[in-house]
Amino acid sequence: MRADPTTLLGYSTVLFLIFGLYFTISEITHGKHRKALWYSGPFLAASVSGFFFTNPVIIPGLWGLRIGAVFMTLAYGLGWQAVRIMLGRRTCLTAVLVLCLLSLAVSASATSTGTRHIASSVLRMLIITGFHFQAARDLFCSDEKQTSAEQLLRRIIVAYTSIYGALALLTDTLPEPLGSNPATVWAIILYNFLVIIEGIFIALAMIAIPREQLAAKHHLLTLQDPLTHAGNRRAMDVWMEQNAASPIPYVMLLLDIDHFKAINDGHGHATGDQVIITAARSSQKVLPHNASFFRIGGEEFAVLLPFLNICQALNIAHSLRAAFAQDVRQIGDGTLAATLSIGADVRHSPDTSWHDVWEKADAALYVAKGTGRDAVVMGAEDNTA
Ligand code: GH3
Ligand code: MG
Ligand code: MG
Repeated sequence: MRADPTTLLGYSTVLFLIFGLYFTISEITHGKHRKALWYSGPFLAASVSGFFFTNPVIIPGLWGLRIGAVFMTLAYGLGWQAVRIMLGRRTCLTAVLVLCLLSLAVSASATSTGTRHIASSVLRMLIITGFHFQAARDLFCSDEKQTSAEQLLRRIIVAYTSIYGALALLTDTLPEPLGSNPATVWAIILYNFLVIIEGIFIALAMIAIPREQLAAKHHLLTLQDPLTHAGNRRAMDVWMEQNAASPIPYVMLLLDIDHFKAINDGHGHATGDQVIITAARSSQKVLPHNASFFRIGGEEFAVLLPFLNICQALNIAHSLRAAFAQDVRQIGDGTLAATLSIGADVRHSPDTSWHDVWEKADAALYVAKGTGRDAVVMGAEDNTA
């Protein structure tokens, strides 16, 4: 069978209808009725447009084509809204509807040739370019780290912003539906391909993005301690792996709450949890921005901090001790007192393994525990304070 324009338009109409129904069913199955509407909207609007373009004589005069064109414009506007929903932003439906009605009004005042007809085509292309531009802008302004599908979607939308921008500039030289001159078969086929390829990429990205976002969220959770929200032991392993070859000297501080078992026994497990949370909060409050903080065990924490000199390391360690001792008094009726012991070691170069540094810092912590607790012991330089 020959791929004549009407057949191709028929295929794309069915394809968009399938995408629209897929998003409706898959989102409703997951109980997300609002998302079902927003995600399927662009595809359903595109299939309505395809229907009118395939059967323009269904309504007398130029109205079949006009309605087809306005639904195509609406499809892009709704596509922009679907991107906003995906990014967790508020929609701008009113702006989309106003621009679509404006486009329809201008095309209604035009015949099939002449200046008004050109103006109507240029306006439609400009509105479609604008919707693409806004979607690309929203994707660029996203605060969160983008998944690979989001990056792909961004590239596609940027490419199509340029394509529609160029079409808007060339409207009076190109045949319809690319421009405003009488339609030719190649222009209909090319436009149809452009729309189908974009639709397929956007649909695939919309299927992939929520899955990637969920996977990224789960990955983050595997690295986070649920009680303090600090990085956990696994996160520290990842950090050390990523910084294995770092030439920057680092100091490792191992923090351990003193006689914590007695706190649990005397004040209850819930208060014990509050003490752990306080240790994390007061440490994060005191530490500089370039420090990494992890909860590596029940009442044990680790800090990895770029090392300047022993003085700096000792000062920070003592600030951690002092901040915890002060903040822990705010828990409950104020009778609770607790202290921290800290063992430290310095990794001067990547020749030393993180494992060795950890062992030495742990040995220093052991010394701090053995010499009365509430103390800081430096391992590498054998400095006790
Ligand atoms: P030391 O001064 O030698 O460090 O003694 P300690 O009592 O602090 O150390 P020990 O290792 O004997 O006790 C740690 C306790 O921490 C034992 C465990 O039940 C408790 N623990 C571990 N995780 C949690 C937690 O998430 N919440 C609470 N409340 N307690 C925890
Ligand atoms: Mg311990
Ligand atoms: Mg302890």
